[in-house]
Amino acid sequence: MPIATVNPATGETLETFRPLGPDGIEERLAAADRAFRAYRTTGFPERAALLRRAADLLEADVPEIARTVTTEMGKPVTAARAEAAKCVKAMRWYADRAEELLADERPDDADVRDAGATAARVHYRPLGPVLAVMPWNFPLWQVVRFAAPALMAGNTGLLKHASNVPRTALYLEELFRRAGYPEGVFQTLLTGSDAVEGVLRDPRVAAATLTGSEAAGRAVAAVAGDEVKKTVLELGGSDPYLVLPSADIARAAATAVTARAQNNGQSCIAAKRFIVHTDVYDDFVERFTAGMAALEVGDPLEESTEVGPLATERGRADLEELVDDAVGRGAEARCGGRRPRDLERGWYYEPTVLTGVTPAMRVHQEETFGPVAAVYRAEDLDEALRIANDSPFGLSSNVWTRDEAEVAHCVRELEAGGVFVNGMTASHPALPFGGVKRSGYGRELAGHGIKEFCNATTVWQA
Ligand code: NAP
Repeated sequence: MPIATVNPATGETLETFRPLGPDGIEERLAAADRAFRAYRTTGFPERAALLRRAADLLEADVPEIARTVTTEMGKPVTAARAEAAKCVKAMRWYADRAEELLADERPDDADVRDAGATAARVHYRPLGPVLAVMPWNFPLWQVVRFAAPALMAGNTGLLKHASNVPRTALYLEELFRRAGYPEGVFQTLLTGSDAVEGVLRDPRVAAATLTGSEAAGRAVAAVAGDEVKKTVLELGGSDPYLVLPSADIARAAATAVTARAQNNGQSCIAAKRFIVHTDVYDDFVERFTAGMAALEVGDPLEESTEVGPLATERGRADLEELVDDAVGRGAEARCGGRRPRDLERGWYYEPTVLTGVTPAMRVHQEETFGPVAAVYRAEDLDEALRIANDSPFGLSSNVWTRDEAEVAHCVRELEAGGVFVNGMTASHPALPFGGVKRSGYGRELAGHGIKEFCNATTVWQA
């Protein structure tokens, strides 16, 4: 994939970039290593001041960087502004809390004596330069949710961003530089995915985090495994959205529209499989279809646009294949199921609701990365849970019910890294984020996230 800014709303190539050669990569690896040796010795107040400064700069840049993001990957500019604002919040959250999250842990006195010590503690130290392989769908947020905790912990960061968001990638490097971070603490590697293996095998790189597809995760984890390096993988999802009879159906349907269509349908935690109890099925499907059909599709730079184009031509072709497969096997497109007739340029696709989905269809097992909802009818809660768990993915999940016993049962049974009750999945700095099964492993955000790239050092004193 060439490194280029291609506007998904028009298909026009706006700018192309030459990938870094071996010398450029070497220069940055050496800088990351050099920077780590000094940066790791800084204290939390110093790191927090730098991160707060980066947050202030980003806050001032929100309108401008939002337009860049929209131009590179097509999300509505309103959503791009919200994404940038969320990054500001996460930076401040980690600046305020990292010291407390990484405070030494002390076992009970009795356990210390039992271990034959007079004192013992766990001390969190940084690991070193961390390689971050990131996707285009939240091109600011995915990077910041790695960088804010990793830098607060004293690591340095090397960003290999997706090849279609180079301007955003360069902006992020520049942001940390302008905030006053020492040279080498946060750098962008403008390279294709073919350079990742070499970087990861370099002994100066301590660990890697990857957010992206299962295929990319598998490739990076295989190399990291071979090198015995720590990884965090945030991969795809096909989150279930269960609607049970006691739910507020109007709210469940309205939220379902946002949960599916957010980010032009290209979110790992978008609800993708809507599993509806037969007693409320017709009511839900009617409201949900009306909501999806009413979404305003168009130029993502327009303030009123709710769904823009898909980020890449390939992404739209993949989505079309999945819909065609489902319809060919008997699913019904209640709305959408095609490109909008009035938008000839750009990679648009109409918000689509598919009913009559069965396990034989590809949408049941694969991730639909676009505004396409698969709807299932379930006879009871057990069947709903069976359908929900019959997926290779396990990122998050959503349950709509007013019955507390059902909530408890779903929390126990759903195979996912999150259960969101009477709402849609969203990430927040204070809540750990990540999946099970083929959605990956490890956690980002909260205390869990900041500790992923730390050496939990046991200190024992006689
Ligand atoms: P992708 O093709 O896997 O790309 C993600 C990143 O991995 C890019 O930087 C890409 O570089 C790189 N990459 C691709 N193949 C690689 C390989 N073999 N070795 C090393 N690096 C490789 O994914 P995407 O299409 O950008 O993003 C969509 C996917 O990300 C979806 O599956 C979505 O669910 C998932 N995602 C997950 C989360 C989460 O938190 N769990 C969040 C957002 C997105 P190039 O661009 O140069 O190819």
